[in-house]
Amino acid sequence: MDKFIDALCLQCGMCCNGVLFADVRPEPGDPSPLFQGHRSRVAQPCPAFNAATCACTIYAERPVRCQKFECRQLLGVRAGTTTPEKALRQIRAARGLAAEVEKLLAELGFNNPRLPFTRRFQRCQRVAEAGQLPETQLERLADLQLAVHRLTGLLAKEFYA
Ligand code: SF4
Ligand code: SF4
Repeated sequence: MDKFIDALCLQCGMCCNGVLFADVRPEPGDPSPLFQGHRSRVAQPCPAFNAATCACTIYAERPVRCQKFECRQLLGVRAGTTTPEKALRQIRAARGLAAEVEKLLAELGFNNPRLPFTRRFQRCQRVAEAGQLPETQLERLADLQLAVHRLTGLLAKEFYA
């Protein structure tokens, strides 16, 4: 790892834990062991991600797409257009919103930690649209929709490269 990845990614993990992406896809001939036993994509949160250390457990053999991806914050720090301190503030803000979304999803009963955020939110929306959410939960649903809106806006502006 390089010093920028040490400084940012080990405090973040959002491109591995299901916040930024729903899955990891192989490129043709990708030799990464992540795809052994899988026919195509591997759902996020990625099974190779260690949430306790915020690190990839197969870093040297991670998929080609993982090697290629650098978010806007990491690119900005590398290019000198932002500082590590500013980038960390964006990471903390996004992680804070992601934690809020996760908490609200759990309170609404969509707390499967093996599913990425987008799938859990889509399931919740489908149940709500089918009128199957108790009336007592509608305020919480509105809070969730607002938190997801804020999170996706921040990710679009500051993270997707
Ligand atoms: S989203 Fe950016 S800062 Fe976070 S782990 Fe991925 S590349 Fe690193
Ligand atoms: S293989 Fe490693 S770098 Fe790629 S998504 Fe999984 S944990 Fe992240």
